[in-house]
Amino acid sequence: MKRERSNILNLRMDELKEALAAINEPQWRAAQLHQWLFSHRAGSFDDMTTLSLPLRRKLAESFYIQQPVTEKHDETMEGSPAGATEKLLIQLPDGERVETVLIPGPNRMTACVSAQAGCLLGCSFCATGQMGFRRNLSSGEITGQVWALSDMLQERNREASISNIVFMGMGEPLLNTANVIEAVLNLSTRKYRFSTSQRKITISTVGITPEIDRLADTGLKTKLAVSLHSAIQEKREALMPQAARQYPLDRLRESLIGYASKTGEPVTLAYMLLKGINDSEMDAKRLIRYASGFFCKINLIDYNPIVNIKFEPVCDGTRERFRDILQDAGLQVTIRKSYGTPINAACGQLAADCTGNSDNL
Ligand code: SF4
Repeated sequence: MKRERSNILNLRMDELKEALAAINEPQWRAAQLHQWLFSHRAGSFDDMTTLSLPLRRKLAESFYIQQPVTEKHDETMEGSPAGATEKLLIQLPDGERVETVLIPGPNRMTACVSAQAGCLLGCSFCATGQMGFRRNLSSGEITGQVWALSDMLQERNREASISNIVFMGMGEPLLNTANVIEAVLNLSTRKYRFSTSQRKITISTVGITPEIDRLADTGLKTKLAVSLHSAIQEKREALMPQAARQYPLDRLRESLIGYASKTGEPVTLAYMLLKGINDSEMDAKRLIRYASGFFCKINLIDYNPIVNIKFEPVCDGTRERFRDILQDAGLQVTIRKSYGTPINAACGQLAADCTGNSDNL
């Protein structure tokens, strides 16, 4: 029986080797083929002129090459001194949609990418969580988001390039770890046409502890950010029910201590300040206790409004008071500005227009 053809861009390097072995080709060809796909971005097997004609034919019998398509572009200048924040809605070959965001900053250009279509974890402040889980993205689909943003940037200015990548878009990266790591390799170590330093890539998680432990052992130089949002177990469970119950704060702290000591890198603890929920002096003191004793820094972030979700951001005074309490205790604290709120491109707002957020445009 003839096997159905599949999209070769969905395969990781290890899977590509297996696929070549299955058609009686040596595995070492995988690197060559991978380079055609992910550096030259060949649109057809006929373009792969360094591969023999019989091999190209065999590949075309088993696979096709289909890249994601940009369906919609939005941009806003609001609150962004370094240029417009831009959001792309990307349609994947099977019709699923994800969003990806380009955020200009002083001396940097950051791509914020999605790792999953939807999300299983349903955090109460997050639009993606309202969508439910659709599926994991392949490494090619993650890599393709950076290409799409990079192409958009370079069409306007050949000299411009993406310097930083953050896995802070839709979905939980560490529930799709193998494909996220493969995408990191595509975008850094392999030195392909698009390449940045691993140190400029941040993987952001709600705290999937076994995967944090695994990441610490990979030798990757990527940075780790953890969405903490409360250092009090009950409050965290109210905000992020699934993640907080499955990976309690004590266990999470063990993983973070292990990660920081193995990698020698600080962990960033992201703390979204929510009015009347986690913004009191007592909350700050619990955070100090939690964050003391291991190599970390704290990013205070604002809540960005989401349709059907009733949290409120704190005022400037509350944010500054909270920061001062942490700083007085010796913690390294940054107030991180959010960009892209008017186009629902800021933290927690990405939902591939499934929540009706597009009505606000
Ligand atoms: S915050 Fe992250 S983990 Fe939580 S629902 Fe949103 S995408 Fe999922």
